[in-house]
Amino acid sequence: MNLSSQLRDTAKVSAEKVAYYFMGQSSTYAELDEAITKFASGLAKLGVKQGDHIALLLGNSPQFIISFYGALRLGATVIPVNPIYTADEIGYILNNGDVKVVVGLDMMIPLAEKVHTLLPTVERYIICETEHNGLNQKGMANLSVYPKLKSFTDVISSGDLSFQDAILHDDDTAVILYTSGTTGKPKGAMLTHKNLYSNAKDVGDYLNMNNDDRVITTLPMFHVFCLTVALNAPLLRGATLLIVPKFSPKEIFQVAKNYKATVFAGVPTMYNFLYQYPEGNPEDLKTLRLCISGGASLPVSLLNNFEKKFNVLISEGYGLSEASPVTCFNPLDRPRKPGSIGTSIINVETKVVNELGEEVPHGVVGELIVRGPNVMKGYYKMPEETAAVLKNGWLYTGDMARMDEEGYFYIVDRKKDLIIVGGYNVYPREVEEVLYDHPDIVEAVVLGVPDPNQGEAVHAYVVSKNPSLTDVDIISYCKEHLAKYKVPSSVFFLEELPKNTTGKILRRALKAKVSQIV
Ligand code: AMP
Repeated sequence: MNLSSQLRDTAKVSAEKVAYYFMGQSSTYAELDEAITKFASGLAKLGVKQGDHIALLLGNSPQFIISFYGALRLGATVIPVNPIYTADEIGYILNNGDVKVVVGLDMMIPLAEKVHTLLPTVERYIICETEHNGLNQKGMANLSVYPKLKSFTDVISSGDLSFQDAILHDDDTAVILYTSGTTGKPKGAMLTHKNLYSNAKDVGDYLNMNNDDRVITTLPMFHVFCLTVALNAPLLRGATLLIVPKFSPKEIFQVAKNYKATVFAGVPTMYNFLYQYPEGNPEDLKTLRLCISGGASLPVSLLNNFEKKFNVLISEGYGLSEASPVTCFNPLDRPRKPGSIGTSIINVETKVVNELGEEVPHGVVGELIVRGPNVMKGYYKMPEETAAVLKNGWLYTGDMARMDEEGYFYIVDRKKDLIIVGGYNVYPREVEEVLYDHPDIVEAVVLGVPDPNQGEAVHAYVVSKNPSLTDVDIISYCKEHLAKYKVPSSVFFLEELPKNTTGKILRRALKAKVSQIV
C-alpha cells in the first residue's frame, strides 16, 4: 500500500465527499483523483519518468496536492521546497537533489530564469497560474518564449485517465526532504513510500482521524509536519481539508467557524498568536475536537491557558523530518501529560540512551533514539552524515529527553543547545518554561554565550508586553524558581524573535543576531 493507491481507493468509496476547500472553491475526492491521474499522465507525456526528481516550489494550494500525488503516481521522487527561499538556496537544493522538473508559481518565472542559468540540468519548469479561473495572461504570455516552461493547466489537460499507475516498491524513495535550517547545512532525508504511508496511517489511527473530520491545513505543505499530519493522514481517512494558504488568527477563527473545523494542527507560536488574538471568540472554535501541537516544545502555561480559554484539548507530539516525522504523541485514550510529547505511536519504538548507546533508567536525561517503519533510508548522497545518525537500525535524533515510569517522554532540549555553566548542565527549555510563566513575557529564548569564568553563561532574550518590565525584575523572578546556576546572567529585550516559516524559533539566527548587539 502507498499514498497514491490509497487515495484512489478513497476516491472510489467516497467519490462525492469533499476532499478540500480552498478560497471558496472545493473538490470532491473523485475530482481530485482524476486531476492527479491526468497530471501524472501529462508529466509522462513530457518525458518525465519513474525515478526522476521533481521539486515543488508551492504554497498551500490544490496544485501542491495534485503535483505531489501526481508525481508519486508516476513513481517520481518529490522534493518539496520552501517557495520563499532565495535563488541561491533553491539552487543548492535543486543541484544537490538532482532535480529535473520544477513545479512553481507563475511569479517564479524570473527566478526560474536565474536558476536556469545556474542549473541547465533542470529540464522543465511547470508553472501554476496564481489566478483561480484560468490562465494569468500576463505571466503565461511569456511561456512560449521559454521552451522549458509549461503551464500546469496544460499538463493536466494533456493527460488522460487511462494512465497506468507506476508499480511502486516499499523502499523506493518517494520524497526527499531538505531539513529545516535549524540544523545546519541542509541535508536531503530520503523517505520511502513505506515511510510516508505508515506514518500517515499510524498518526491517523493514534489521533482517531475519520471521514467526518475537517482539518485546518495551514502549516506549510512543504514541511513534513503538515505533509503527514494535516494532509496525508486526513486524506487517507477520507476527511476534508480546509486549506488556509497563510496563517493569521483572523483567518483561522473564520475558517473554523464557517466550515465547522474539527482538527487544527499548528506549532506553538501559532497557539500563542491564537491565544493572544483580542477578537478570538471561543464560540468560533466550538466544533474543534482536537488541537495538535508539534515542531517545538509547547510551554505548559500556554497549553493550560489555551485549553482553558477555548475549551479544547491540545495533544502535543514530536517528530523530525528523518522520521516522516512523527514518533510520539500524547494519547487520546489515556491521560495526557502537559509538557510531555506523549508516548511512542503505534509501530514506533523510542528509547533514551547515554553516549555509549545504552538505555538509561527512567528520569535520566539522554539522547532520544527511534526505530520503526517511518525512519528514513538515509540522506541523499551523504553516506557519512547518514552513518552519524543511523546506527544499528536506530535513528539518533540529536534531541535530549527523559522518559517517566509510564513511558511518556519529555524533550529537555536539542543536544547542541545544551549550555554548560561551570560544569553544570543547563537545558534552555527548563529556563524558558519559567520565563513563559511570567505574565508579562510573550516569547522567550535562552542561549549559552561564552563566559571567561564559567565556560558559558545563560542569556535570555524576551519579548515583553509590559514596557516597564526590567532585566532586574526578570532575574529576581528567575531566582525564585531556578537553581542559581540556571538563572540568566543577562536579559535582553527584543521586539520579536526570528522564526522560520513553520514558526520555529531560529536559535542559531538569533545567536548570530545577538552577537552583534551584545
Ligand atoms: P524538523 O526536521 O524540521 O521537523 O525538525 C525536527 C526537530 O524539531 C526535532 O529534532 C526537535 O528538535 C524539534 N521538535 C519537534 N517537535 C518537538 C516538540 N514537541 N518539542 C520539542 N522539540 C520538538
